[in-house]
Amino acid sequence: MGLVETEIAGHDWKGMLCGCGDSAEHVALDLLRLAGRGPLREPGAVSLEEHVWSPATLWEPAPAVTSVALAALADDVTPRSRDRFLELLHRMVAGEGTDHGSARRGLDLPEVCRTLAVQGLWLLYGEVMSNRSLGAVGTAFEILSVVEPDRGRLHRVREIAADWLPVCCRTGLCDDDR
Ligand SMILES: [Zn+2]
Ligand SMILES: [Zn+2]
Repeated sequence: MGLVETEIAGHDWKGMLCGCGDSAEHVALDLLRLAGRGPLREPGAVSLEEHVWSPATLWEPAPAVTSVALAALADDVTPRSRDRFLELLHRMVAGEGTDHGSARRGLDLPEVCRTLAVQGLWLLYGEVMSNRSLGAVGTAFEILSVVEPDRGRLHRVREIAADWLPVCCRTGLCDDDR
């Protein structure tokens, strides 16, 4: 059992309402597949759009999904699976709205996800410095652009990694907080 399975097992998916109106139990299975830990043993093309996120809204399982994505980055997953978890994490921290039920309970889901992602700061910097793939480097840096409270550190790393960062990150084009 790896970190991904351990983290998935630590959340009450059944008790969460998914964006599709069902319980979020299926999201746990989708995440396992995304990690290549499902019955097929290879990363599946799983989309959690309209379940956990949409361009305008995050749903109740979003914070749990954020934690699982961070666990995946610390786990030994394939490069493809790593890319997908990074993209998923990006969706979580770049979210803008909260579903009605969670909002009524006083939750700001994008904010909760960003706070969680800050705990994985050094994992994300590790990803940027690894220069493993242009996609992963860019996504990790863009997540950091959203969540890193220390802008000076972000900009210093941008200089060090300038040779392999995508142009949008290097020039600050994708950073709202320039
Ligand atoms: Zn769903
Ligand atoms: Zn960029």
